Amino acid sequence: MSTLLCKHCAGNIEAEDSSCPHCGIPLPPHHATQKQRHFVLWFVALVLFCFFMMVWLPPDWSPFTGR
Ligand SMILES: [Zn+2]
Repeated sequence: MSTLLCKHCAGNIEAEDSSCPHCGIPLPPHHATQKQRHFVLWFVALVLFCFFMMVWLPPDWSPFTGR
C-alpha cells in the first residue's frame, strides 16, 4: 500500500491506519483515497489541458529544426 505523511508529526502512516502510529492523532476516514482521487483529478485535468493546448495552439518546432 502507499505510504503517506502525517500532517501533524510528518511521520509515515499507512493508508489503512485510522490514527497516526507516531503521534496518535486520529486520521479522517478514507484520508488516503481522498488524496488519491484528488491526484487523479489533477492528472486528468492536466492531460486535458495539454490536449486542448495542442489542438488550439499547434507547437511551433521552427526554433529546433532551424526552418
Ligand atoms: Zn502523526
